[in-house]
Amino acid sequence: MDYKYINNMLSKMDKDLATKGMSRREAMKLAGISGATFIMGGTSLEAMEKDQKEITKSGVNGRILIVGGGLAGMSTAARLTLNLTNPDITVIEPEKLSVSYQPGQTLVAAGIWDIDDIKYNRDDFVPEGTKLIEDRVIDFDPTNNRVTTAKGQVIEYDYLIVATGLQLDYERIEGLEHAGRAYSSGDNSRLHKAIGNDGICSIYTAEGAEKTWDEMQKAIEKAKNAKDGKKVQFLFTHPSTPIKCGGAPKKIMYLTNARLKEAGARENAELTFYPNGGAMFGVPEYHDAIHEQFKREGFKWHYRHNLIGVEKENKIAIFDAKWQEKGPYDPIMKDFEVISKHEKVRVPYDFIHITPDAVAPREVGESDIGSASGWVPVNKETLQHVKYNNVFAIGDIAQVPMGKTGGSVRKQYKVLVDNLIAQMEGKKLPSKYAGYTVCPLITDIGTVMLAEFDWTVKPTPSFPLDPLVERWVFWLMKVYALKPMTMYGMLSGKA
Ligand SMILES: Cc1cc2nc3c(=O)[nH]c(=O)nc-3n(C[C@H](O)[C@H](O)[C@H](O)COP(=O)(O)OP(=O)(O)OC[C@H]3O[C@@H](n4cnc5c(N)ncnc54)[C@H](O)[C@@H]3O)c2cc1C
Repeated sequence: MDYKYINNMLSKMDKDLATKGMSRREAMKLAGISGATFIMGGTSLEAMEKDQKEITKSGVNGRILIVGGGLAGMSTAARLTLNLTNPDITVIEPEKLSVSYQPGQTLVAAGIWDIDDIKYNRDDFVPEGTKLIEDRVIDFDPTNNRVTTAKGQVIEYDYLIVATGLQLDYERIEGLEHAGRAYSSGDNSRLHKAIGNDGICSIYTAEGAEKTWDEMQKAIEKAKNAKDGKKVQFLFTHPSTPIKCGGAPKKIMYLTNARLKEAGARENAELTFYPNGGAMFGVPEYHDAIHEQFKREGFKWHYRHNLIGVEKENKIAIFDAKWQEKGPYDPIMKDFEVISKHEKVRVPYDFIHITPDAVAPREVGESDIGSASGWVPVNKETLQHVKYNNVFAIGDIAQVPMGKTGGSVRKQYKVLVDNLIAQMEGKKLPSKYAGYTVCPLITDIGTVMLAEFDWTVKPTPSFPLDPLVERWVFWLMKVYALKPMTMYGMLSGKA
């Protein structure tokens, strides 16, 4: 645990609190939680220590290969290292900054953090004794327990953990074909030539987040100088696939709104949300709360609109809009038929934030370990592959409902390690993932609604507070506590 880092973060938080005339103790009291719990983003230091004491190391042997050394892969390597007497772990990861803190990209995009606040060197997080191969897997051969890398290495394993995350599919959008598909980290220069200028932006890469802040400031300046009642158009999209952190497309909208208000330019701007789906959030309670927030902030929204094209030169976004109409009466079914309709809708924009389709990397999706949809098919509770008993998947690539957040990984990686070790020992898999996920929904600079839920599709708050209320104390947690919990708690296998 990097206590120096935590102390540094605490002194920053104290400065922020001092501007509000409040001490750290008073802030914690407000949250109704202990300081240590707050500082570790919902995991107390005591709970982490207890967890460590309860670990009984297993002496079982086996070559464990982890493909993907991002948040899920590296946290799992760390946890396995703590749980095995003779760990034999190899991680294959091509990118040097693979563990960079993606949830902070939203804050970078709104000028609250700098890009350097989220960049972390992978090599500082490789657990002692773990072998790192800097390469990309291009072929999975689960029948023969081996993978092949881009540099031509063939690596055999006894147990495989797939933790490749997902790809961002910008090339599907007509007019942005040249943007290609991007990974969250690594060389995305092709993407950044195509977007991050002319009012088009996307927070899904670190550099993309930085460019979003540039584009946002330009559009706000335009709003400040707008005349004759003409409003500057800000558009925010949400695609038809599952995405990382479902709240992120709305967080960037709320933050743009906050910056417009701060600049005194809100009246000259129109902010519109275009989701592919028919609701604000999958959990009805959070849907209702967001709906009220949208009304309060004067946002517009159009459900069932999927972004399919961008005409950069004319600044037009093209959506596939869907709706249903009542058809003829069916005397056999004794009801009216429902006819699905759709049409192309053209919308002018000054600023558009694009959330791209999220897809499985081709090398995974098109291999024997992928499913028809590309994601790795696992038992959603044990995270074991449905066909290959010695293969597990975790994080964004795993085919589990609602599981694409760092918060989900935090619950998944301990389950996976318990189950993998049991599998190695020839025992029944003991642990189950219950679908927990979390979205700290930033609703303004200074307020967050902490949306926590699981497969019950009900709010499952970790704190003794009404989960539907936007709170400053959760803003403090988002900005100061969740990063150290992730970087020094999870990535050391302890939180
Ligand atoms: C803008 C944004 C906001 C977010 N906000 C939140 C939030 O508020 N709260 C929250 O909990 N989560 C949030 N998340 C989501 C969270 O960051 C991810 O769910 C988490 O990083 C997933 O971890 P992962 O290890 O599965 O994927 P990643 O961290 O993306 O790592 C996957 C790794 O696999 C590597 N890889 C890919 N293919 C191969 C291959 N073929 N061979 C070898 N290696 C490969 C990649 O290089 C990458 O390093 C956010 C994400 C974004 C982008």
